[in-house]
Amino acid sequence: MLHHLPILSPDPIWGLTAEFQADPRPEKIDLIVGVYRDETGQTPTLNVVKEAERQLAATAGSKAYRPLAGNAAFNASMTRLLLGDGASSLERAATIQTVGGTGALRLLGDFIKLAQPEATVWTTDPGYINHRPIFEAAGLHVRDYHWRQQAEGIDVELAFNSLADARPGDVLLIHGCCHNPSGIDPSAEDWAEIAAFCAKRDVVPLIDIAYLGFGLGLDEDAAGLRHLVEALPLVLCAASCSKNMGLYCDRLGAAMIVAPNSGVLANTTRNLENLGRTNYSMPPEHAAAVANIVFSAKDQWAAELAAIRNRVSSLRTTFCDTLESIGAPASFQALRQHKGMFSILPLSPAQMQRLRAEHGIYGSNTGRVNIAGLRAADIPMVADAIVKVAA
Ligand code: PMP
Repeated sequence: MLHHLPILSPDPIWGLTAEFQADPRPEKIDLIVGVYRDETGQTPTLNVVKEAERQLAATAGSKAYRPLAGNAAFNASMTRLLLGDGASSLERAATIQTVGGTGALRLLGDFIKLAQPEATVWTTDPGYINHRPIFEAAGLHVRDYHWRQQAEGIDVELAFNSLADARPGDVLLIHGCCHNPSGIDPSAEDWAEIAAFCAKRDVVPLIDIAYLGFGLGLDEDAAGLRHLVEALPLVLCAASCSKNMGLYCDRLGAAMIVAPNSGVLANTTRNLENLGRTNYSMPPEHAAAVANIVFSAKDQWAAELAAIRNRVSSLRTTFCDTLESIGAPASFQALRQHKGMFSILPLSPAQMQRLRAEHGIYGSNTGRVNIAGLRAADIPMVADAIVKVAA
């Protein structure tokens, strides 16, 4: 059996991380994987999460099986977090706890394959490295559309031109905020145009929101999703708690379907549950229980998240200021208006390799770097190295 397996090379991100770990240079810098790091280079556990875990350990509740949709209180709180407290759309939403944002994407992929087997899923170019593999693994066609910066938002005309072949029932995957890898987010006007495009072409948006709270704030970052939900009968959403609660390895997320009316919700939920059932049965309880306590201390959570967001944003500003002051090409200044952890440096794969080989600075060959992986103290050295390889 095993000799029939395809021969695979290492995953580009995790393969590069292994290379980084094997690099003996003490001054090496890891800008590869999308995790938040503080000034000491650690990915901290939020205090609000530590307190939640202490509370859970003290009560040591039962580990008996939970319902197929996971933790019902978590599902309700996530729906409110995404759609807004008191939103009328809450009545039309079916939400199920998933194994991280990745689990939500795959569950929705399986759901689309079940409901609309011939649908093409349109993903952004550049885009998240795992989108295509996830939807192809669900048996769906995947094609790309252009995602480029224009003024304060994206070039919607270019995007729509590259969607010329989209058919009714196709799925348009959009990053809800903090686009990975480009950091380029739609403006409010762009979201209105995206909604109009979906309505006109009968295309269903799937919002992948893995960085809620990392752009402008918890409510602000959900504005695009909420706009689409108000404007359209059907919106799919894959949300992750990995970054905004720092629960990366606990694997917590949610798949939400905002349906045309509440009458279809029970059957929609049963179908989602059934897809989970044949895969992992039910999602893990621990992280959802932690998240419920975090939701009950929302002010504390929002304050910790704001500190993280502000740190990344100030790193971004200092990085751009430093690049400007030492004469880096003007194209680097586009990084200023990007949102979230990522940006694509305007460097070629060969220049990215030189950054690694000559300076021990590790980013993807595509130019993607995790700004949150920079320490303020490293910025002068990194900017200097960039100017050298860009020359
Ligand atoms: N979508 C995007 C755009 C992401 O960047 C990520 C994580 N890097 C995910 C989904 C998956 O998140 P999770 O780790 O919760 O599975």
